[in-house]
Amino acid sequence: MSDSPILANSLTARIDAAAQSIEARVIDWRRDFHAHPELGNREFRTAAVVAEHLRRLGLDEVRTGVAHTGVVGVLVGGRPGRVVALRADMDALPVTEEVDLPFASKATATWNGETVGVMHACGHDTHTAILMGVAEVLAGLRADLRGSVTFIFQPAEELPPEGEDGGAKMMIDEGALANPKPQAIFGLHVTSRLPLGVIGYRPGPTMASADNLSITVHGRQTHGAMPWLGVDPIVTAAQVVLGLQTVVSRQVDLTREPAVVTIGTIRGGVRENIIPESVEMRGTIRTFDEEMRDDIHERVTYLAEAISRGSRAGCTVCIRKNYPVTVNHPRLTEAMLPTLRRTAGAERVVLVPKITGSEDFSFFQQLVPGLFFFVGVTPPGTDPATAAPNHSPRFQVDERSLLLGVRALAQLACDFLESGIGFE
Ligand SMILES: [Zn+2]
Ligand SMILES: [Zn+2]
Repeated sequence: MSDSPILANSLTARIDAAAQSIEARVIDWRRDFHAHPELGNREFRTAAVVAEHLRRLGLDEVRTGVAHTGVVGVLVGGRPGRVVALRADMDALPVTEEVDLPFASKATATWNGETVGVMHACGHDTHTAILMGVAEVLAGLRADLRGSVTFIFQPAEELPPEGEDGGAKMMIDEGALANPKPQAIFGLHVTSRLPLGVIGYRPGPTMASADNLSITVHGRQTHGAMPWLGVDPIVTAAQVVLGLQTVVSRQVDLTREPAVVTIGTIRGGVRENIIPESVEMRGTIRTFDEEMRDDIHERVTYLAEAISRGSRAGCTVCIRKNYPVTVNHPRLTEAMLPTLRRTAGAERVVLVPKITGSEDFSFFQQLVPGLFFFVGVTPPGTDPATAAPNHSPRFQVDERSLLLGVRALAQLACDFLESGIGFE
C-alpha cells in the first residue's frame, strides 16, 4: 500500500470524454429536478427518476426505499478490486424561489403543518444530476473498472420533518454502507462562495457539528407590579442568554477550534403586567471537535441551571444532537488532492476555511474514510463574496459547474480504486 501521488488512472481520458458527451443530459436532469423540488423524506418523484436511470444503466443492484426514499446502486466492475462509495443528497428546502428561470420552481408543499414554497436552494438538484452522470460514465466503462462503486442517493439532508427519522444516519442503519462495505466515500457540495471552475477542500474538521438547544426557565407567575410575590423567569432568561455568551468566550480553549452558541428564539409572557410562569428559548450549538462538543453541552447545561438556581427558578435544558463534525480524513484528502488538481487544474483547487454550517455526510465519515469537497457555481462577473448564498431564494447555479462535478467524482472513484491507498 503506498500513498504516492496518483497522476492518472487507466480510464482518465475515457472518463473525461464520456462526461463531456453527457453534459447536456446532466444539465437537463438538473433542470427537471429543479422544476420539481421535493422536501426531505418526500423525494418520491426524484427517487423514481434516479432508480429508473440506475436500472436502465444495468447496475448490479438497485435498492429503493432506503431510509424512506433513498436509492442505493451498486456497480461491480469487470476487474476485481475494492469498493468506493459516492453520495448525493436529493432534498429541497421550504424556500419560495425568486430566480427568473424558465425551469424555476413553482412547487409548494406542507412543512410542519404550513404551506410553503419549495426550492432547490441548496443545490441538491445538481448533486443528484451529477451523481446520475457519474453512474452513467462509470457504467459505460464497467468492463475495465477495477472494483465496485456504490452510488448513494440520500433523502432529507436538510433534516426530516419534525417527528420523523431520516437522512444519512438512517441510510446507514438500513445498510447503505454494507454489502459491499466501501473503503472510502466521496461527496461534493456546490457553493456560491467559490467561482465557477474552482474546487474547495479542507483536511480534517471542515464543517461544524450542529445540535439543537432548548431551555425552559420555570418561574412562578405573579402580578407585574409585585415581582417579590413570584419568581421572574424573564429576568432569569435574560441572565441565562448573557451567561451563555461566556461559555465560548471564557470557558473553552479557542486556540483549539472555534465554536458557536446561539439563542435564536425566546418566548414568554402574554401581557405587560403579568410576570409569566415560564420562558422558553431555543438555540444552536456548533463545534469542530467531538470532545469540545460534549464539553460545551455540559457547560451550557450547568450554566443555565446554575444561573436559574441563583434566581430560585427551575430550569430544563434539552440538547438534541443532530449532525456530527464533518471531518475529512487527512491522509485520504492528501492522497486525493492530485486527482482534484488534475481534474480542475492545479491553480483552481483551493484550501477553504472552516464552515460553521453542517452536513450529515459526517455520519458516513464516522464509519468510512471520507472526503467532502466544494464545487464553485458562481459565474464569471459575479463576486462570490456577494452572490446569493446557498439557502437564499435567489441562489443560482452556473450549470457549467456540473461537468466538473461529474469528472471530479468519477476520477476520484477510479483513482481510489486503482491506487491501493488504504487506511485499515
Ligand atoms: Zn443546505
Ligand atoms: Zn446542502
